[in-house]
Amino acid sequence: MKRDLRPHQSRAIEMLRQALGAGKRRPVLQAPTGFGKTRLAAAVIEGALAKDKRVIFTVPALSLVDQTVEAFWNDGIRDIGVIQGYHGMTDWSRPVQVASVQTLQRRQIPHADVVIIDECHRWFDFYPKWMMDSAWQSRPFIGLSATPWTRGLGRYFDDLIVAAKTQDLITAGYLSPFRVFAPSHPDLTGVRTVAGDYHEGDLSGVMNDSALVADVVDTWLRRGQNRSTFCFAVDRAHAKHLQGKFAEAGVPTGYIDAYTPCRERQEIERKFQDGHIRVVCNVGCLTTGIDWDVRCIILARPTKSEMLFVQIIGRGLRLAEGKEDCLILDHSDTHLRLGFVTDIHHDVLDDGRPRVRGRGSDCIPLPKECPQCTFLKPPRTRECPACGFKTEAINHIEVTEGELIEITGRKRHGEVVSKDEEAAFYAQLKGYAQTHGYASGWAAHKFREKFDLWPGDYRQVSAMEPTPKVLSWIKSRQIAWAKSKQRHAE
Ligand SMILES: [Zn+2]
Repeated sequence: MKRDLRPHQSRAIEMLRQALGAGKRRPVLQAPTGFGKTRLAAAVIEGALAKDKRVIFTVPALSLVDQTVEAFWNDGIRDIGVIQGYHGMTDWSRPVQVASVQTLQRRQIPHADVVIIDECHRWFDFYPKWMMDSAWQSRPFIGLSATPWTRGLGRYFDDLIVAAKTQDLITAGYLSPFRVFAPSHPDLTGVRTVAGDYHEGDLSGVMNDSALVADVVDTWLRRGQNRSTFCFAVDRAHAKHLQGKFAEAGVPTGYIDAYTPCRERQEIERKFQDGHIRVVCNVGCLTTGIDWDVRCIILARPTKSEMLFVQIIGRGLRLAEGKEDCLILDHSDTHLRLGFVTDIHHDVLDDGRPRVRGRGSDCIPLPKECPQCTFLKPPRTRECPACGFKTEAINHIEVTEGELIEITGRKRHGEVVSKDEEAAFYAQLKGYAQTHGYASGWAAHKFREKFDLWPGDYRQVSAMEPTPKVLSWIKSRQIAWAKSKQRHAE
């Protein structure tokens, strides 16, 4: 073995060995992004080679063949043949064959003792035919995936080995922590569901709206801290619209879809990595096998698919130098529907039968949105970790858990402000007035200055310590006032 395995990788190998020892022939090994899945696969292959066994390793896309060969090569596995079109490494005599499914299903299959199916959540009709073929029935097929939740996968595989969960890897320091804000809430009523996810055309109709697109750009400018960002859009028109608006706002922005030529993609990657491009808008094609230094994810594509959701967020969880966390700006309400990716988990493979218990939101405790800053808090968290806002501080206005903020629809200074936000703002003005010994009317006047209305309904809220956001607003008003006084004096 060329490199030592991490503890969770060794444990995964041991669990796999036990499963095979117990007679399982079709185990799935679930390993999240950042687990070192290729390293793990390399260790399995090394184990097989040591016993003079032959291995076929399949990948679900042509673009993944060379990258896989390179990774194995770097891991010290050199005796590799490739099954893909007329690839220069075609050589059946080699003990390890890296194969694209597309080519393999059209050809005769070379002999092997073990088959590893990478990204096995991407299922092909060819697989069951192969697995059930009498010549292959007794040989192990090992599925690998970060998200092995495809409908019916349990009909073909007989065991699920969860090598680690995303939260385990974050805790152990192998993945980046993340923070989520939910700045806007698209109205998806009327969007049809097809094959378990939203109808793309309907979705595009809702999401490609100019106000929503403008909000994505505005939010990133306000909160994005100029981070290197992947923006996931519904379709090409939506992604291009977003790219155009980012560019108009002066943000160097790239665009990638499944048809972007390889060379152009590499050029965008280079500019992204060296900082000349800050945002890359794309249509779900940056989900698998992409390892760029991403520090912010914009989710502008609502989905009901836990797999797509987890794959998208996974792009932002790689560690990188100087990276403290990944910022997620969710404009799709997906977190409020499916939960945090760290909470999505299934103990067993889906056997394709109608589900008795619901999945996703039915059994996962969902995050709650901070009414003040839109940060998504873990369930049952009273105090917002991002801005310090406490839900119980408001005793006059009913804020029940699980309730979305109520948008009053009034636009103040270009911002839509909810009643909760107004109440929180007033509570903090009160807090400021108390600590500075201001007269009781001061908070009400400041409130009016901000919202063009008197606090009325909110008079009963308890005073709160102001957040930096409110403090800076108060300061900006003081500066404006001082300047106007100065002008008056001149
Ligand atoms: Zn907050």
